[in-house]
Formats: sequence, C-alpha cells, structure tokens
Amino acid sequence: MSRIGIIADVHSNLPALSAVTSHADRIDEWWCLGDTVGYGPWPNECIAFLKRLGAKTVAGNHDLGVVGGISLERFNRDARIACEWTGRVLDATDAGWLAGLPERLAPTGAGALLVHGSPRDPLWEYILSAEAAAANFKLFEGALCFNGHSHVPALYSLPSGARAAAGVPEATETADGEVTRMRDGERYLVNAGSVGQPRDGDPRACYVVLDTIDGWFAFHRVAYDISVTQARMEEEGLPVLLARRLALGR
Ligand code: ZN
Repeated sequence: MSRIGIIADVHSNLPALSAVTSHADRIDEWWCLGDTVGYGPWPNECIAFLKRLGAKTVAGNHDLGVVGGISLERFNRDARIACEWTGRVLDATDAGWLAGLPERLAPTGAGALLVHGSPRDPLWEYILSAEAAAANFKLFEGALCFNGHSHVPALYSLPSGARAAAGVPEATETADGEVTRMRDGERYLVNAGSVGQPRDGDPRACYVVLDTIDGWFAFHRVAYDISVTQARMEEEGLPVLLARRLALGR
C-alpha cells in the first residue's frame, strides 16, 4: 500500500463520488471519513460504490442518524428530512453496514487516525480553529489524522521543536493540486473537505491523495454535473435548499 485516496462527506451524491474516483490516479486503497449518506438522493448506490472500492470507512453523524443510532433532534430541519427519507429507501443490509461502522479507525501500517469530526468527539466536533486543532493534536499518536464533517478542506500542521512543545499548530491554505511534503517529526491534521456537498465556496468535489512511501499528500477538486444530482433530488422530493446549495458550494 502506498497511495491512498481519502474522501469524506459523500452524502449520497453518486455523480460526485464517481467523478472523484475517475479523477484519482493509481490509488491502492480508499479511506472514507463518514457521512456517506444524508442530504443526497443515492444512499444505496453510494454504499455499494464504497463497498466495491473496499474503502476503509468510519461513521459520521448522518450515517448514525439515518439508522437510529443518534436522535434526529440534533439535526436541523432539512438534514432531518433527508435523514428520514434515507432511512425509508435504505436497503436493510446497507442499514446494518452503516450501524456497524466504527467511530475511529487506524489502518495498519499507515500511522494515521481516521475520524469524521475529531479525535475528541468523532461524531460531532467541528475543528474550525487552531485552538480546536491544538486540543485534538494531543488526542492522537501518529503523524497523521484525517477528518471531515465541516465540508471545508483544511490543513493544520504541528512542526517538531518549539511550536510542538507549545502545542501551537499552523493553518495552511489548501489549494487544488498543491502538494504538502511531510517533514520528519512534523504532525498533520487534515480535513479532506467534502465529496458530495462542499461548503468552502467551491462547488467542485474535494478529495485528498496520500502517498505513504514518498511522504506527501495533496488536495484535489473535481467538477461534476451538479444538475444531475439536483434533478434527482427534486424527483425524490428532497428539500429544495439542499439541492440549491450544491451549485453554490455553501
Ligand atoms: Zn457531512
């Protein structure tokens, strides 16, 4: 295993997911950071797609909301409606698969922790500040932690030396295609953004490639036909605002 494709927050958006996997080159293994379902119109198809990829997958709040593992009172109205719709159309085997997903995964040999929200609170915490990142750096061991949940790609790094001793991480912009070379002793908290519903103002699907042999990772953005997903959401009667926001990337 050397090259890993990392995806998060697919949210039942099959055209976005298949655009990402077509775009990705020479991937040996896929990791998925949760919220595979919710919001979008293809839950069974996206789960089948992940199973075909053999993706190592953790649970997200929507995944558990759909199968009753989390109370839907914690979701806003549109998210709740989409979760209820998903629960109605979901195959029984897929519901079982979602219910059985772990909250944390550490794939063997990779030195990485996978969570949906954060190491501190895998299902719910949004890491949106250096302070939140600093607290979470103390809660994983290896050089790498990958998360999702915010739908905004982000990169925090903790260099070795004085900054690490002070526990003050550095936030770096995550431009499309930009490669981060990992340095000895440096640690990274990487939010892989969202495949199926980006919220950073760029509506293109987002994913990350990690090369564990050469020691680098890179963010990528991939355009897909958003109107296809919107049309299917309309057919299924899913909330209009959820369809509209896909085109805005908000
Ligand atoms: Zn999500």
